[in-house]
Amino acid sequence: MRVLEKGNPNGWEKEVTCTGKGNGDGGCNARLMVAEADIFVTASHCRDEVDYYYTFLCSECNTKTDIPERDIPSRVRTKAMDEYKGKNNR
Ligand SMILES: [Zn+2]
Repeated sequence: MRVLEKGNPNGWEKEVTCTGKGNGDGGCNARLMVAEADIFVTASHCRDEVDYYYTFLCSECNTKTDIPERDIPSRVRTKAMDEYKGKNNR
């Protein structure tokens, strides 16, 4: 068997840049390593539709940046979405 990409036993992490993408831009361009606990869901309402985004908050400048869905494992997305729905249904 060939290993194409090694897993991370400590959970998912990803190197990202603070760009403010999806949130008015204006990020500070810091390079950050986000972990699954840093990801949360934001929603934008457009007419009858709701779009969900997976977002992190930069610890340097407090700007939110959206991360493309395909860059986040479905397990991490599900967890973030469950937390979002839990908060908003109470
Ligand atoms: Zn920043």
